[in-house]
Amino acid sequence: MGIFDVYPCYNITIEKAKDMLLWDSEGNEYLDMYGGHAVISVGHSNYHFVNMLKKQIDKIAFYSNSIVIQQQQELAHRLTAISGKEWYNMFLCNSGAEANENAFKLASFHNGKKKIISFSGSFHGRTSLAVAATDDNKITAPVNENSDVVILPYNDIEALEEEFMKGGVTAVIVEAIQGVGGVQVATQRFLEKMRMLCYTYDAVMIADCVQCGCGRTGRYFALDESGVEADIYTMAKGIGFPMGGLLISPKIRAEYGMLGTTFGGSYLACTAALAVIDEIEDRELMKNAGEMGHYLVEEIKALKSDKILEVRGRGLMIGVEFNCDATPIRSRLLSMENIFVGNAKNKRIIRLLPSMTISKETCDKFVKSLKKVL
Ligand code: PLP
Repeated sequence: MGIFDVYPCYNITIEKAKDMLLWDSEGNEYLDMYGGHAVISVGHSNYHFVNMLKKQIDKIAFYSNSIVIQQQQELAHRLTAISGKEWYNMFLCNSGAEANENAFKLASFHNGKKKIISFSGSFHGRTSLAVAATDDNKITAPVNENSDVVILPYNDIEALEEEFMKGGVTAVIVEAIQGVGGVQVATQRFLEKMRMLCYTYDAVMIADCVQCGCGRTGRYFALDESGVEADIYTMAKGIGFPMGGLLISPKIRAEYGMLGTTFGGSYLACTAALAVIDEIEDRELMKNAGEMGHYLVEEIKALKSDKILEVRGRGLMIGVEFNCDATPIRSRLLSMENIFVGNAKNKRIIRLLPSMTISKETCDKFVKSLKKVL
């Protein structure tokens, strides 16, 4: 008996963490340039975050959605304000995949259609429709195969228009910056055309901001950079707690029972999400993410390593593409320099998703270590 073995793990036991640093059971110190998989927006064990949660758990940890939960009301207000989507409504669930599942359901309830368009390189989660819309055969079980999902080439405007013309499209789901796909950025024209086609053909535009949301790219949602407005935004990771959420355009009407969850929007999750928003606002962390991200990209480029093909992304969602398999580089960053970074579906890429609290000194330390490892 043991743990169902689905994760290839490093044999490291982390015992405590503070901001961007982690310490293992033997007292070794690590630098977290991966933000615990883009979850840690405001630093590990953030004082305000911990304090708010401690106070909340002393009062009440859980009750069902059959009563008014004041923290949900406050979160709806704060989330729509920080993202500039004041007229949108919020629904809370428990993960990124669940947020996307709910978004698909809402689209289909709204326009009565069935076909979903997603894109090459996409990752939308591991549950039923979310995994069907994900471009990865290896994680799609036969039961998930769904003929109503069409995966088109990312950034291909003609293919998108052709598919719409065939009819039946309920929704298009897009990551404005793909995460698992290797930090690929959608073009302005592609996003604008998608918006226009969704209007024309009465389809719902879903911005999957599970990874590129919550301020990491310097905007609350990465899509905002384009000026294009989605009908639904999904989010999770950067909320900083096991929680998923949707911001939903008022054109999509709610009805009792159309969505639901037991745990979604609990006191603890809402308190955690509110604490993260407090920190992002009080410490201007979106601005820091934009500035430090730019600095980090330029410093990595300045290494002028012949092994580096491209450094791309926005804010603190950065992909470094090498001319070789990056697995040994990632392993050496950890074994020689005690630095965690992420990988991507394409093995030549490493992903940097550090906390939005990162300083110039920490960026410099990382670049120095990368240089040494290369
Ligand atoms: N969407 C994107 C863009 C993601 O990167 C992920 C997770 O990596 C998901 C959805 C799924 O989120 P979760 O693992 O919380 O279900």
